[in-house]
Amino acid sequence: MLSDRINQVGESATLAVDSKAKAMRASGVDVIGFGAGEPNFPTADYIVDAAAQACRDPKNHRYTPTAGLPELREAIAWKTRRDSGFDVDQSQVVVTNGGKQAVYETMQVLVNPGDEVIVPAPYWTSYPEAVKLAGGVPVEVFAGAERGFEPGVADFEAVRTQRTKAVVINTPNNPTGAVWSDATLTDIARWADDNHIWIISDEIYEHLTYDGAGTGYVGALVPQVRDRLIVLNGVAKTYAMTGWRVGWAVAPQPVARAITKLQGHLTSNVADVSQQAALAAVCGPLDVVAGMREAFDRRRKAIVSDLNAVRGVTCPMPRGAFYAFADIRPLLGAPLGLHGSVADSSSHFATLLLDEAHVAAVPGGGFRSAWIPAFFVCAGRREPHRGDAPSQGVGRLSI
Ligand code: PLP
Repeated sequence: MLSDRINQVGESATLAVDSKAKAMRASGVDVIGFGAGEPNFPTADYIVDAAAQACRDPKNHRYTPTAGLPELREAIAWKTRRDSGFDVDQSQVVVTNGGKQAVYETMQVLVNPGDEVIVPAPYWTSYPEAVKLAGGVPVEVFAGAERGFEPGVADFEAVRTQRTKAVVINTPNNPTGAVWSDATLTDIARWADDNHIWIISDEIYEHLTYDGAGTGYVGALVPQVRDRLIVLNGVAKTYAMTGWRVGWAVAPQPVARAITKLQGHLTSNVADVSQQAALAAVCGPLDVVAGMREAFDRRRKAIVSDLNAVRGVTCPMPRGAFYAFADIRPLLGAPLGLHGSVADSSSHFATLLLDEAHVAAVPGGGFRSAWIPAFFVCAGRREPHRGDAPSQGVGRLSI
């Protein structure tokens, strides 16, 4: 009945865990949620106020231009200059329904059937699926915890073929929290440039780094890649605005035009009110982010220390984003917790964790199944309780 195209796509592991956790919560179970990557801070007042004002302005019931409000595109161009460190014109910016739509649309306009896209693993679960939906072939390169989850250019070269069209870079990284060094990014960007390979740089966690780590930006490090560089970003993680659904792509003009054309047939514009909120966020001060970063930092240390205190669990310290990525392999095949249940895979483990301990965590299989089936990931947060003090970090994680 269904198309081959959709049948080859897996469900989002993160959303599956999150919706089960939310359903349990709705039925009265006190679930501690480390599932979805969703900051539990309220969106800042000045952003909400901008949206409220936009709601009351009668002109805002209309469609906006498909690529976004001109003032928002201009603000994103300005912000790209400030943060990523190079000049872009607003005509290169397309505002999308979240960073996720920017990923999907990028693959749709870039990838031909059979084209290969290199996706460093462990990876955010939607990249390979977006490649497949475009008829492309995701090709993994893997770097484990012992290498700081940071592959080198030799790993990329080892899988390069005539069909290699693009490489995905995501630093700070979901799910590992790795922050790649400028040296690695420079090497990879030069290699991509030498081989006429596009770079898709997902910078959505750019402002969430710790211990003095800084986000590296390929477009600034190796300027010659800008003709084949697509920067993806959004307001979700930086400004605690996951539900507002505003992301963007910054791309060379022909690509930006193609993305706009596709979006014109897909969703048209992002809701005007959300765009007005994003405008206030992007133009606003970064100190609102600094406050959240401090809280994430405290939670990061707490959850990593608690995880490492559990026999059989090893968790490296993430330097970016808000995820802890723990190795639980020694716990597989052994009786667990009060009931003595035995898990044989990371997803089985995550199911038991949710069913028996009421703790939601995403199994590592969703991020990179073949190699390390026994990792799971936790967003460093509790399920949002309205009124929770933002600094309340990690709840119980009893295995
Ligand atoms: N990119 C990465 C690496 C992510 O982790 C996420 C969300 O989890 C996104 C993009 C998409 O974010 P959104 O669609 O909420 O803007």
